[in-house]
Amino acid sequence: MSYITNHLPTAELQALDAAHHMHPFTTNDELAEKGARIITKAKGVFLTDSEGNEILDGMAGLWCVNIGYGRQEMADVAARQMLELNYYNTFFMTSHVPAIALATEIAKLAPGDLNHVFFAGSGSEANDTNIRMVRTYWAMKDKPEKSHIISRKNAYHGSSMGSGSLGGMTYMHEQGGMPIPGIHHINQPDWWAEGGDQTPEAFGLARAQELEAKILELGADNVAAFIGEPVQGAGGVIVPPSTYWPEIQRICDKYDVLIIADEVICGFGRTGNWFGSQTMGIKPHIMTIAKGLSSGYQPIGGSIVCDEIAEVIGSGEFNHGYTYSGHPVCSAVALENLRIMQDEKILDHVNNVAAPALQEGLDKLAEHPLVGGVNVSGMMASLPLSPRKETRSKFAGAAGTVGYMCRERCFANNLVMRHVGDRMIISPPLVITPEEIGTFMTRATKALDETYTALK
Ligand code: PLP
Repeated sequence: MSYITNHLPTAELQALDAAHHMHPFTTNDELAEKGARIITKAKGVFLTDSEGNEILDGMAGLWCVNIGYGRQEMADVAARQMLELNYYNTFFMTSHVPAIALATEIAKLAPGDLNHVFFAGSGSEANDTNIRMVRTYWAMKDKPEKSHIISRKNAYHGSSMGSGSLGGMTYMHEQGGMPIPGIHHINQPDWWAEGGDQTPEAFGLARAQELEAKILELGADNVAAFIGEPVQGAGGVIVPPSTYWPEIQRICDKYDVLIIADEVICGFGRTGNWFGSQTMGIKPHIMTIAKGLSSGYQPIGGSIVCDEIAEVIGSGEFNHGYTYSGHPVCSAVALENLRIMQDEKILDHVNNVAAPALQEGLDKLAEHPLVGGVNVSGMMASLPLSPRKETRSKFAGAAGTVGYMCRERCFANNLVMRHVGDRMIISPPLVITPEEIGTFMTRATKALDETYTALK
């Protein structure tokens, strides 16, 4: 047994990390050259690293720590649940109180007739479930050929074979033989990068109408579902023009195509409502959830399913499930997270305090010579960097070079702001205070200034 603790020197931890720990989305060279930043603890919106730096987490981890870090109540619930029932499954006619209570609470919060929850361990797993669920649904309605799923380029739906195929990131498809058959991708509604001279409204409509063209190309009788994030997150916080989702809804209604809203980032308050579908006026048949469901305190995800699909699927046996579907500790912790969100009125805080303060700060950052625009929905935002904001121009050279530089300057100034290409991404814990947003803006401005100077 090796005794590796926070007390080892950073360099030693980094060397062990590089030697034994394979990281997602990271190269060995990067790890060997720079060493990973080692996070040792966190409280509220601040992380502490192994050198004692206090870092403002402008990303809420990976868009997930909505209620902030280090909450005693969450630890207490986890400990209590581990002692009472640390594990049991939900297969073969068994259940337990944490899964029952969590499903009931989610059904209460979800809009319309989304009254049923199929639990998974993550967003990726839940989207894999969704592929099987919508195909099984149509097959059970004697339409097995209605099996194709339409998604968008540059969408992110997870990293497994199924969810990675639903995603539209070509650099992911290049590894491991994705996409799996029967998944198609239309263009995304990214007006800032791809809208040219069109108005956002005309562009949004045109991009939505690509769905109709794709349905007609495949034949409506062959199309099971359309999947989309209400606001694309990992693709660069792409807030669609106001015309986009109403047109998508019209088209899906017209051709009897199910809508899967991937709420893994948007769900649980990120856009100012419980779900991004409410913010964007979407009426989905299935919503994918994870991340903010437990604020990242335990790994849990799921699919919230409408009455009709749950009835049809349940009329036979759905041969699908995960050992940890509805895991009791994860469920109890997620339920406590939802209690805190409601008792502390975190949505009111978002809408009345945090989101207006964030918007005000971002509007100021938009005046910076390096910032080409602002995309924002509630507490998720992006700042596309540009050498000429008037024309929304891109930098010469490899995409992402300037974004990477800026991310590094953020790190150096004790701020986590991620980059997607040359866009800077912001998604802080929802509980962030105006004062902390002020600290965010000061550090972000310094990082932008330093990047700008380095580019001269
Ligand atoms: N869907 C969306 C919209 C996501 O942003 C993510 C993760 O970032 C996923 C699905 C995958 O979730 P997980 O990483 O929990 O598998």
